[in-house]
Amino acid sequence: MAGIYLDHAATTAMRPEVEEAMRPYYSKRFYNPSSMYRPSQEVKKQIENVRAQIASAIGALPEEIYFTSGGTEADNWALTAFAKTGNRYSPHIITSTIEHHAIGHTCKRLEQSGCQVTYLPVDGRGRIHVEDLKRQIRKNTVLISIMYANNEIGTIQPIDEIGEIARKNGILFHTDAVQACGQIPIHVQKSKIDILSASAHKFRGPKGVGFIYVRKGLPLRNLLEGGGQEQGLRAGTENVPGIIGMGKALELAVANMEERQKKETILRDYTIQRIKREIPYTRVNGHRWYRVPNNINVSFRFVNSESLLVLLDMEGICASGGSACNSGSNAPSHVITAIRTPEEYQNGVLRLTLGEENTLQEMNRVVDVLKKTVQELRKESPEYEDFLKQEKATQ
Ligand code: PLP
Repeated sequence: MAGIYLDHAATTAMRPEVEEAMRPYYSKRFYNPSSMYRPSQEVKKQIENVRAQIASAIGALPEEIYFTSGGTEADNWALTAFAKTGNRYSPHIITSTIEHHAIGHTCKRLEQSGCQVTYLPVDGRGRIHVEDLKRQIRKNTVLISIMYANNEIGTIQPIDEIGEIARKNGILFHTDAVQACGQIPIHVQKSKIDILSASAHKFRGPKGVGFIYVRKGLPLRNLLEGGGQEQGLRAGTENVPGIIGMGKALELAVANMEERQKKETILRDYTIQRIKREIPYTRVNGHRWYRVPNNINVSFRFVNSESLLVLLDMEGICASGGSACNSGSNAPSHVITAIRTPEEYQNGVLRLTLGEENTLQEMNRVVDVLKKTVQELRKESPEYEDFLKQEKATQ
């Protein structure tokens, strides 16, 4: 039985074209891009081509792109570099309650070092309200960091409106676009985004490489001391194969984005409808429209998501209960509690994230397996038994 992979928000398989593009840079073209001789300069040229290509994919300039080791580094860099701009004694940052831990935990650390941080609440569908944002702006607000799309429930934030508010108030706007880049169109200039983080392994590129966009002229503080790479701001010999692979992956992701979005949206909505119709006591988490095309997040009452994931795994289905970083923990994720999921639906969360290779046949099988497994797990649940007794008594 072939496995069904439905955890593309955790990571994706590299495209064969990406692997092929990277291969020469491990051996034949192994040169250090900082050296003076011609083979090295050729490698340097290829890296710069990728920079230009990534910039054009998001409406930026090549000199506004810096390569990093992934989304986590880009998020950490963005916050630590810009939290202390303007030399304010106690700068204020606004973020949301549903950010990835790369933002959330960095904010906590910044609080310990004297920053003030406001964590904006989200509504039941996972969106911030711009009126709340406006109300929270203070004289010392230097940075707004709101993610583009959430990694657990897929909700897309009102990015253009946030950008407008930030620019009008002279505040920098950073967005963690790790789950959006390569999935949905992004234009940093049109959306008035000042700083953006992205990661290649989420759009079928290699792991351990990403980038940060920083609008030209902003005072980006250096992250690593050492050589003069990345305009002297992020020292260290470049991950050349990774960068080449990221460039190829983004090129291909952008080229077939429209077609992929259509296909994934149809599969997503079909699967959600079948689950809602065929499995009782189910709740869909996240927004109906403002949602990345590949995200399905549902909660099953009277089910424990750990047990469900084990049974799905036994059926060859790879899925997730929340974000990958949360797996192994039984507590409901901070996103699930932030959207005020009723308590009885907090433990049975299932995230299925599609990729372009998933098929209708696979999704039908997944729903069939879910129907059976949820039913089996409920049979073992004392709460479900009590619930059925109560139902019977009130009939
Ligand atoms: N931000 C978001 C929204 C993510 O989903 C992730 C990874 O899941 C990250 C940041 C971290 O990215 P990376 O795995 O490249 O460090």
